[in-house]
Amino acid sequence: MEGCLFCKIITRELPGFILWEDEEFLAFLDINPVNPGHTLLVTKDHQEDVVHLDDETYSRLFLAAKELVRPLKAATKAKRIAIAVEGLSIPHLHIHLVPVHGPNELDPNRARRASEEELARMWQRIMEEKLPTTDLWG
Ligand SMILES: [Zn+2]
Repeated sequence: MEGCLFCKIITRELPGFILWEDEEFLAFLDINPVNPGHTLLVTKDHQEDVVHLDDETYSRLFLAAKELVRPLKAATKAKRIAIAVEGLSIPHLHIHLVPVHGPNELDPNRARRASEEELARMWQRIMEEKLPTTDLWG
């Protein structure tokens, strides 16, 4: 969709620290992380809301989120990877995967702009973990 930030990352018109993708979905680092390693998983189709997804696509999206938990957890040493769908700031469906170390950290007010260097370092660390292969479903 014209003017959509996430669509531009998907088409590589804008740079992004892309961690993983398959035919339908793309995962990349949030440049305003709540905690280091905060990742966004998006549909490659411009969809605004999960209600517009058919059940199969919805299932595959959340299975992809699940697959990303292990490498994110390993790279960040987080206790949990919190999963949240809100979508009020950018109207392109995305799942937040946020490494958290304790309660109450999943708070958008904690988000702050990360430097290129911080993002690059985190990207490198996550990429060293075994990420899902291109096609999760064989
Ligand atoms: Zn979009």
